[in-house]
Amino acid sequence: MSASTETGREPGRARVDRWRTSAEVLGEVRRTPGLTRVELARRLALSSASVTETVTRLRGTGWLCEHRAPVSGRGRPTTTLEPAPDGPRVVAVDLRHEDWRVGLAGLDGVVTDVVGARHDRDPARVTAALRDAVATVAGGHRAVAVGLAAPAPVSDDGLVRATELSWEAVDLGSVTACLGPGPVPLRVGNDATLAGVAEARTGAAAGAATAVYLTVEVGLGGTLLLDGHPHLGAHGAAGEYGHLPFGDPARRCACGAAGCWGPEVDGRALARRLGDPVPDDPRSSAEDVLARAAGGDAAAADAVGVAATALARGIAGVVHVHDPDVVVLGGLARGLRAAPAFDEAYVGALMAFRRDHPVPVLDAVHGDLGALHGAAALALDHATSAEGLAERCGD
Ligand SMILES: [Zn+2]
Repeated sequence: MSASTETGREPGRARVDRWRTSAEVLGEVRRTPGLTRVELARRLALSSASVTETVTRLRGTGWLCEHRAPVSGRGRPTTTLEPAPDGPRVVAVDLRHEDWRVGLAGLDGVVTDVVGARHDRDPARVTAALRDAVATVAGGHRAVAVGLAAPAPVSDDGLVRATELSWEAVDLGSVTACLGPGPVPLRVGNDATLAGVAEARTGAAAGAATAVYLTVEVGLGGTLLLDGHPHLGAHGAAGEYGHLPFGDPARRCACGAAGCWGPEVDGRALARRLGDPVPDDPRSSAEDVLARAAGGDAAAADAVGVAATALARGIAGVVHVHDPDVVVLGGLARGLRAAPAFDEAYVGALMAFRRDHPVPVLDAVHGDLGALHGAAALALDHATSAEGLAERCGD
């Protein structure tokens, strides 16, 4: 998921090692903004001298600021550590089938200043528009990394093969071209994976040790999240749940395989069941069918029921494989889960020992902005890592 197209200098190992404690401190402040120096020292088992040295260093980089904490009881005076309001920023990009969004985030990960536009799927025009939008959104701030969510499998070479967009191996590296001084790293992730990251960090799966995120847009995507981090596999391409062979083996999928799960649960599946032509925009056509089903249209309800059953049975299979604490659903999967057929199909497909206490299936809380929040998290993960700090801050 997390391909890199950065062109920056490679920091030496010794220099990276000198930033390890700083990276851990930033990680704790991201998890718990406003934690005290005393609590930080306890969590990371650091001496107070080491905390002082590291915090001073991080204040120098602009990431952190401190406030005097109210003294409680007989405790010694301490300070709270906060993301600096005028600190470095990351730019988050969510490239979708029909449109794109670009926003800005600081260490707190909250995405602001969001701009967006529709696009015509022309690779050169889309990358140019993104380059301009990234420069505009970052204007006046110190942008240290860009995270980009792409509607496609992402592999280690940093290229995106967006079969649904009919793009072949598009290099998105130029979207950071107007940032600087110096090269600014770009981290690219699969959009469904990044929406899952957002749920695992600050959403419906926050705190879960093992979580599965699944979303239906055009096809079905998702990720396995372990302690808030996506499982990426040997080549960064894990999480292609939509291409599990849970579908009709006679149906060829755009991925090149046959019988994939994704085409059974999205707008194309609904149109097929209704006898309609293949929709131009499967997402909005599915929203339309879901709305008609909710409004009492029997044919639409039947189509939604069939897709909801295919989704629910597949989720049971995924539960058997991963044994998660929770399954979180995004996109159109939320609408399918609301169909009357869902619960019975899910529980009915579970192994007997799971039926009394089925793994909860919850709706995502980040909604439409999940991938954008996840892209910000991906960029922050890099910028606040020892490698990222060594790259930008030197020794
Ligand atoms: Zn497929």
